[in-house]
Order: sequence, then structure tokens, then C-alpha cells
Amino acid sequence: MKITSIEIGKLTIPLIKPFKTALRVLSVSETYVIKVTLENGMVGWGAASPTAVITGDTLGSIRGALTEVLIPQLVGADVENYESILTKINAGVVRNSSARAALDMAVYDLVGKLHNAPLYKFLGGHKNSFETDITVSVNSPKEMADDARKFVVDKFSTLKLKVGIDSTVDIQRVKGIREAVGPSIKIRLDANQGWTAKEAIRVITKMEDMGLAIELVEQPVKAHDIDGLKYVTDRVLTPILADESVFSPEDAFRVLQIRAADIINIKLMKAGGIYNALKINAMAETCGVECMIGCMIENKIGIAAAAHLAGAKKNITRMDLDAPFLLAHEPVEGGISFDGPRIILSDAPGLGITAVHTLEAL
Ligand SMILES: [Mg+2]
Repeated sequence: MKITSIEIGKLTIPLIKPFKTALRVLSVSETYVIKVTLENGMVGWGAASPTAVITGDTLGSIRGALTEVLIPQLVGADVENYESILTKINAGVVRNSSARAALDMAVYDLVGKLHNAPLYKFLGGHKNSFETDITVSVNSPKEMADDARKFVVDKFSTLKLKVGIDSTVDIQRVKGIREAVGPSIKIRLDANQGWTAKEAIRVITKMEDMGLAIELVEQPVKAHDIDGLKYVTDRVLTPILADESVFSPEDAFRVLQIRAADIINIKLMKAGGIYNALKINAMAETCGVECMIGCMIENKIGIAAAAHLAGAKKNITRMDLDAPFLLAHEPVEGGISFDGPRIILSDAPGLGITAVHTLEAL
């Protein structure tokens, strides 16, 4: 079944409140949507989210990689031979992982549809629902404690706190939030590369001594500093999770080989899509390392693709797919639905996306 056209549209969605991490502040979500049409009229959806400070991808670079390089190679290709299309996507351009991810998820959407199976069942069918954590943005300790309390009232049982700007204030923030939400709520931290290795050990050890019961700490050191990451992992009891240090399967191999982290955070926008994410998860599982599934500030198409992958695989044990909760309105119908913090996967074929509103054609 051949691909006859691939179109790109843009979705612009304001955020409910600015998203603040150690790396950036964002108040609007701007993403591209890919619509791949087959000769029988079947449509596959994909999406790319630009996160210049993490992936290096911008709206302009995503558009360029898609229109100048990848799309011309894929029109006319047969989706039933999807291994060959996914190989073409990954060989067609280096880096540009968000553009590759958008096409990859649209291809998987179509493959699921051609087999009349929801994607999570096609890929393994491990679970059809799970809870996500929710991110508390970096603000004053009081504002963060207030936000955390609100999320707990909304039934979230796992909070992800952005830290890594100032380690002294970080400890106060975490202490304030632990006191605000009580002992039964899971707290995970994301330093977004904000500490040095020794600073990370000092802060994490201090939090361990204070009994703050941190579930895990994500990306304490710079992305390229794999030795520093291992140094931290080897010296604290709190599990350390690699995020920005692992984009590709090759990155995952390097981290797993020297056990530089205890857990790996897979994001489709880093991995370049589901095809590479499956490789990362399989390698990690073989090494006894669990994976988390994460996201950027993405639209619900990208989140649905990540959620279907997470649902498929038992080794993906932690979910950080909170982007839909940050958006002021939801233009994407289908794919996944929500019950408080619980994400429920659609049982429609493929990703199960039924409509995309307010799409601005390019
Ligand atoms: Mg992270």
C-alpha cells in the first residue's frame, strides 16, 4: 500500500501557565503535524515538537529536514514494508530527531491501521492504561508547594519537580513540597543538566539524609558528561535516570555498557521515533535497566504515540507524559483519553487519532 502524499500543518496552543525548567521558559506550544496518506485513502498522523535547547530542533529545521530531505524519499514507498521505510527515515538525515520521529509515528499509525490493531497491541499489548506524573515548574519554593498541593488534589500520585538552578534553594524547594504533600506522594526530580557531578552528589546525599524520599533524580549533569553521570550513579543510593544523555540506541548502548545510569528516559523526539525507542528499550531490558517514557511540550498526537509505546512494553515502567495537562485547549481528538492522572489508550486501529482541529496548513 503506497504513500501518495505527505502534508505538514502547524498547531499553536497556549499553555495554561509558563513551563519553566533549568533550561528554558515556554508559554506557547508550537508543533508540526504530519499527515501521511496512502493510495487507499488511509491517513497516518505524526507530530514534531521543537526543543532547541535539548534536541537542537527548531520549527525551521524540522520543516527543512522534512520537506528538503525526508518527504521526497518516502512518497511512493510501500508502508507494508515498513522496516525499509523506517531505515530510510533514519538513514536520510543525521540528528534532526524530531523530524524523524514525526514520520516514524505516522508510519506506525498506518501499520497499526493496516493490521487493524491499536498500536500498543501491535507492539506488545502489555497494558492499556497507566498513570502519568505531572511536572511542577521551577518557581519560588512557596509557589512550587502551592502547585504541588493542587496536583495532589487533582489525584496525581507522582510529582516531577524541576530543580538544578541553585542547589541550596533546590533543597528548600523539595523540603517544602514534601511537607506540603505528605509522605505517600512519589517525588521525582529533574535537574535538566543543572549540576556538576560533585554538586549532584552533595545535594542528593543531603536530601537522602533529610529523609525526603526522592524516587529518582533525572539528568543531574551535562548531557555529554557520561563519566560524570556514572560518577553520580555510583555514589548515591537514589536511582539516577539518564535523559538528555540518551538520544539514540547508540547513546543507550554506551550508558548501559558502563552502567552510567539506573534508568533511561525514552522520548520519541530524542530517539527519532518508535523504531529506535524499541531498540533502546530492548537493550535496557536485557541489561536489567527499566525505562521511563517522557515527552517534550508536545501535542496529543506525539503523546498518543509515546503512550502506545509505553502500553506495549512491560519494561517501560514510569510515565512522564504530562504535556496534555499543560495545554489551554485540546485540538486533537482520539488516541488517548484521561481519567485524572490516568491515561487510557484508544482501542481504535493505529494511534486512534480521529480529528485534528485548528491545523494551519503550510
Ligand atoms: Mg528530563
